[in-house]
Amino acid sequence: MSLTPQEADQRSPSSLHLCVDRIAPLVPPILLPDGRLVGMRDKLWPEHQRVLHVRFLGGDPRLHERIERIARQWMAHAKIEFVFDNARDAAIRVGFVRGPSWSYIGTDALDPALDPDAPTINFGWFSPATAHDELQRVVLHEFGHVLGMIHEHQSPAAGIPWNREAVYAYYAGPPNFWSTDEVDHNIFQRYRHDQANSSEFDPASIMLYPIPPEFTDGKMSVGWNRTLSAIDREHIRHLYPSHSE
Ligand SMILES: [Zn+2]
Repeated sequence: MSLTPQEADQRSPSSLHLCVDRIAPLVPPILLPDGRLVGMRDKLWPEHQRVLHVRFLGGDPRLHERIERIARQWMAHAKIEFVFDNARDAAIRVGFVRGPSWSYIGTDALDPALDPDAPTINFGWFSPATAHDELQRVVLHEFGHVLGMIHEHQSPAAGIPWNREAVYAYYAGPPNFWSTDEVDHNIFQRYRHDQANSSEFDPASIMLYPIPPEFTDGKMSVGWNRTLSAIDREHIRHLYPSHSE
């Protein structure tokens, strides 16, 4: 469900609480045949590694069950499987460390430099009282990163008419406290793309941050995306096709 601009306006941007990505910049993107960018090629799970075991590191068991149910929505559209069995050697480890929410992108979770008992994905502000809408927004987004997806607003196609000063000023405040470098990294930095004008920006993507109108001098706005868009589902099917496709 996307909010109308009016509904988005009613939500103060002071509540924007967003994912901080752990991503290496400037690695080659993956493009669909029509030029749309979908993810990071060298971070996709290879075919023999598409059963991903998931282990929870603490957190309330009531949250575990809700997170699993939401994350599994991705599996309906792609030939990849999350197995929530708390395996000791699970590739995906879910933390609940207070602070930002974030995830490594795709196979970056396998980096041998990582502590095998540390999270590869973190939910920084969940509690058993967190509303379903908020849980779904954040869990689908972070598990999109687990599958190798990147931020839609950083797609080469995202020609968002930012008022950069307004964006820097907003994110310098609570709850994010981002430096200008962090805003550059999380918002303004776009991925390379050698094809100049063939991409399409998806304003409904779960991988897009909300964009309040004051970030663009009212030229555009995006509300809170909380479900997989039609294009999200198409992208993930493209990244992890079934054998019959
Ligand atoms: Zn993100």
